[in-house]
Amino acid sequence: MSASEQRICPGCGSRQTVLVLRGLAGPTDESDQYFRCLECDRVTYEIVSRTEREVRASRLAPGRSVRERGSAYTVRRVLKVGVNEYLVYLTPDLDDRALSFAPR
Ligand SMILES: [Zn+2]
Repeated sequence: MSASEQRICPGCGSRQTVLVLRGLAGPTDESDQYFRCLECDRVTYEIVSRTEREVRASRLAPGRSVRERGSAYTVRRVLKVGVNEYLVYLTPDLDDRALSFAPR
């Protein structure tokens, strides 16, 4: 993995991260893409898979703020990839208080 592709944990700034790629052919059959920090164990999502109903119910659109497993993200892009599947590209919200304070 090249330096430019390296993920930096938004929680603690560590580069010790493990990327889990979305891939339906992969051994884990992951539908989401994320990386896990080896220092603080934080999981940061990059792409999550959603149904059309979920996209509508959560009004997912670029620029919207969302929470994914307790952490705040901004939606970067919503891409329709199947009859009933959307890929939602997320960017961690660096103002998220959960990054520096324990979640309530
Ligand atoms: Zn970390």
